[in-house]
Amino acid sequence: MTDLLNVDDAIERILAAVTTLPAERVPLTTALHRVLTHSIYSDINLPPFANSSMDGYAVRAADVSAANANTPVTLRVVADIPAGSAPTTVIQKGEAARIMTGAPMPEGADAVVPVEQTDSDWRDSEEATLPETVQIYQAVTAGDYVRPVGENVREGQQILDAGTIIRPQDIGMLAALGVGQVDVVRRPRVAIISTGDELVDVDMPLTPGKIRDSNSYTIAALAMQYDADAIRLPIAGDTLDEVRECFQQALESNPDVIISSAGVSVGTFDVVRTVLNELGEVNFWRVNLRPGKPLAFGNLQKRPFFGLPGNPVSVMVTFDLFVRPVLLKLAGKPATVPMVKAATAVAMDSDGRRSYIRVKLVKDGDRLIAQTTGTQSSGALMSMVMADGLLIIPEGMTHVPAGTELPVRLLRDVIAEN
Ligand code: AMP
Ligand code: MG
Repeated sequence: MTDLLNVDDAIERILAAVTTLPAERVPLTTALHRVLTHSIYSDINLPPFANSSMDGYAVRAADVSAANANTPVTLRVVADIPAGSAPTTVIQKGEAARIMTGAPMPEGADAVVPVEQTDSDWRDSEEATLPETVQIYQAVTAGDYVRPVGENVREGQQILDAGTIIRPQDIGMLAALGVGQVDVVRRPRVAIISTGDELVDVDMPLTPGKIRDSNSYTIAALAMQYDADAIRLPIAGDTLDEVRECFQQALESNPDVIISSAGVSVGTFDVVRTVLNELGEVNFWRVNLRPGKPLAFGNLQKRPFFGLPGNPVSVMVTFDLFVRPVLLKLAGKPATVPMVKAATAVAMDSDGRRSYIRVKLVKDGDRLIAQTTGTQSSGALMSMVMADGLLIIPEGMTHVPAGTELPVRLLRDVIAEN
């Protein structure tokens, strides 16, 4: 028996063969979750002009320094400044301008008195005619209720670092700065191949001996989950011609990664292998892993290729371990995995390979208890449908007593309260 390849060594070898994709320019509307390839600096101040933070009256603070409710100060109202206008009136001693939130401060004024602190709350009345005078009930000091130029962002300030994964607030800020397009890492394109005479597509009837192709759907969905574009190719039967034609078509779709499932078990002589050897260099590994021992990795015409096992659960586990970090590296993102610890509900035996057990997680006070989802057959996709996570039994551990705390790879964002 040849030695099994350690999971982490396999990941390392795979990652050594891929590099982050080049940049492309995209409009802001499609930039969410993409990785910025250059730092962004502001070429303007935000706000670009001093403006009022309240609806009220723009005043010279010195004029109203003695104002209070009992001894109001009366000012002449000489201008009306709605948001979006560019005031031209200069406020002189004894004068005020009505001003709206976000409207530019007029020259001469240095503070705003909120409308509630005046006798002229236009918001209560039907018509908002400009009063001739306003009584001020509150003293203000210079700068009160004024948002100064550049309070938010200074011209020349760095806004985002190269390598940032763009969030909604980043997109809003870029819009505020007038940056309508950004350079980001290109999205990986993933071509997905299913092979097998037993397979029919989702909308075909199940005739004797046939099953529906689920792997290409699972793999496409996983690819999309990591912000890659998925290209599903038509199912290829187990003939050299069909498999060759399918791989050719996959290459023509100009993918960054090609993924096939089935036909890579060591020992089986399969037409898939013949085609792989024609198109590139592929290694057939036996990984110290359950499920998912057989794994092919290499390149087809210089593009990374994964030959995942055929069984639907093996597909998901091997994708998570080996393909996911590749998609994230291509996209310029770190490959962190959401993990928790959970205690096993019952004793389990393992064969010494690193094992991924499908579990439901149940809250028990501060602890999580992991219960298996039933059959752990690598063909039983329902075990993944029911699973909250994958409990990991490490290499070399053959017996797991009940209550053992082990790491769990979370498969949901939220674990339901029981
Ligand atoms: P193989 O590697 O071809 O021996 O396939 C292993 C198992 O996975 C068999 O039971 C296949 O029927 C099953 N299988 C292969 N491809 C798919 C697929 N695309 N969807 C669902 N099951 C599959
Ligand atoms: Mg097959």
